[in-house]
Amino acid sequence: MKVYNFSAGPAILPKEVFAEASEAVKDFQGIGMSILEISHRSKEFQAVMDEAMALAKELLQVPEGYEVLFLQGGASTQFAMSSMNLLGEGETVGYVDTGTWSAKAIKEAKMYGNVNVLASSKEAGYDSIPKGFDVPSDVKYVHLTSNNTIYGTQFQSFPDVGVPIVADMSSDILSRPIDVSKFGIIYAGAQKNMGPSGVTMAIVKKDFVANPVRKTPTMFNYNTFIEKQSMFNTPPVFPIYVSMLTMRWVKKNGGVAKMNEVNTAKADLLYGAFDKSDLFYGRAKVEDRSKMNAVFLIKDESKAGAFLEACTAANISGVKGHRSVGGFRASIYNAMDINGVQTLVDVMTEFEKAHG
Ligand SMILES: *Cc1c(COP(=O)(O)O)cnc(C)c1O
Repeated sequence: MKVYNFSAGPAILPKEVFAEASEAVKDFQGIGMSILEISHRSKEFQAVMDEAMALAKELLQVPEGYEVLFLQGGASTQFAMSSMNLLGEGETVGYVDTGTWSAKAIKEAKMYGNVNVLASSKEAGYDSIPKGFDVPSDVKYVHLTSNNTIYGTQFQSFPDVGVPIVADMSSDILSRPIDVSKFGIIYAGAQKNMGPSGVTMAIVKKDFVANPVRKTPTMFNYNTFIEKQSMFNTPPVFPIYVSMLTMRWVKKNGGVAKMNEVNTAKADLLYGAFDKSDLFYGRAKVEDRSKMNAVFLIKDESKAGAFLEACTAANISGVKGHRSVGGFRASIYNAMDINGVQTLVDVMTEFEKAHG
């Protein structure tokens, strides 16, 4: 049975990746052992790690002076780890508050120094991305969430803030080209657009993280992972392997520029359907709409349950909205093809004909 999985995360991955990963669980590259039982120091896994790092660098055109790291603890650990390393007591950092994940990041940073919330869309229910905010000269770096998985908004471009940006790109990493040189740290939990849960990719500018501002435990110090090439301790072997396979798939399918092209077409199709509809409507401001997570609402709430049933009947899974927003959310990550989006649009159209 073909199910169209629109879940926000853990999320859809390319079916070729699932096929290859399941082979590797049984017998990795014909060595008679599973990927799950080989040493992380084996030459076979070292090759996986090397390829994962090289693919991330190639796909995102990571410049000299940066390292690609594979960490554990999820993006949520990066909320704390970034500020623990970078934000000294009495120092100030700027945060852009665009939703739940930004707010959680702010909470962690406040443990270490002064947080200046430069701009927030909270009052408007996080329906947009603040623009044109000032960055005071005492701000050491600016943290932002590039794509707001829950509210369905996305930075279409990144502001020039005059200091390095630390960005949570959990839900749009590898979805489009980015200019890495603007960033001091990019981090992303893999389970949205890159792999299974259990690994966080970080792209760090080496001189930006070189001198932690305080005593930092070994496992919370970026330099540990830089020096040991993400092999200080046992890395999450399987999530890194699957992420590597996904990056191979991205490369084979034209790279992140092509991903962006396809993601734009998918988003246009879906948002176009909201805009034509008299029953459904998009939640986010048009210019800030996410190409990864499309959040939409229904004018007649009493029909919400019936719509979800219609989705289920069409083998569409995962469109129930986040509990804090309600309504619906269609996550249309790289691995969701346009046929899946068309199927959802068809269900919406049919539903509106029957119930509109
Ligand atoms: C899912 C998500 C997180 C949380 O990631 P974990 O890996 O579960 O800690 C953080 N930020 C964004 C933007 C997310 O989408």
